[in-house]
Amino acid sequence: MDVESLPGISAELGEGPLWDVGRQCLWFVDIMRGLVHRFDPAAGTDRVYEIGQPVSALACRARGDLVCAVRDGFARLDPETGAVTMIAAVEADNPRNRMNDGCVDARGRFWAGTMSMHHEREAGALYRLDPDGTVTRHLSGVTTSNGLDWSGDNRRMYYIDTGLPRIDVFDFDLEGGTLANRRAFVTIDPVEGKPDGMIVDAEDHVWVALWNGGCLHRYAPDGTRVSVVRLPTPLTTKPAFGGPDLLDLYVTSASIALSAEARAASPSAGALFRLRPGIRGRAPRLAK
Ligand code: CA
Repeated sequence: MDVESLPGISAELGEGPLWDVGRQCLWFVDIMRGLVHRFDPAAGTDRVYEIGQPVSALACRARGDLVCAVRDGFARLDPETGAVTMIAAVEADNPRNRMNDGCVDARGRFWAGTMSMHHEREAGALYRLDPDGTVTRHLSGVTTSNGLDWSGDNRRMYYIDTGLPRIDVFDFDLEGGTLANRRAFVTIDPVEGKPDGMIVDAEDHVWVALWNGGCLHRYAPDGTRVSVVRLPTPLTTKPAFGGPDLLDLYVTSASIALSAEARAASPSAGALFRLRPGIRGRAPRLAK
């Protein structure tokens, strides 16, 4: 499969790719540098916003602004002015944690979790931000709260705690926004890498990026692995479908944890990749 590395983009910890259907652009973050990127594939431009603290996940809102998971909680980004304002603090009493990956459910609630910045196990949690700004904790004892997404019928939520390392699945109650009956969806052999970001495609299959695996895995709804796509650098972080037909698959990557030797061997570390796997994505849900 042809994998294109988009020119001029070199993230330290690239993450959180999100296709913006309204603007036809790809948003993504560079977490520890506190940057949000807005890549416009038609123009080939990349506008960068400084958030002022680590930023790890994004959601577009119908009203045109973005919700960001930032170190200290949930924030709003005005894409016209670049202004950042806090919506809600999360774990304000714990400066050792930061927020990490997130995703919007079919009711416009933004789910995002936390992790320790000091490698502490089971110090994180998973939260739900409601349209009225209320934050509810749904899981605790999480090591690295990472990718999450829903099945097309909204009855399952897939979830990754990279500390396990598995992809788990919950029964999801869309009306109440609650989780039940956690069980393993797939277990990934550590020699293949660690599960990081994920996305569910239009055929209800699960794509996951493998940190230190340099690849994507695609799983059928019954947990059978149906394909592996190799990428040219080891720290692949998260996939996102995009493009006018939702047939492009973007993948972010990182250079942050590579030794000088590994970095020299992998000049595309930190790049934004694009490929055409022949499978369509779903339009991302908007936060309310
Ligand atoms: Ca991640």
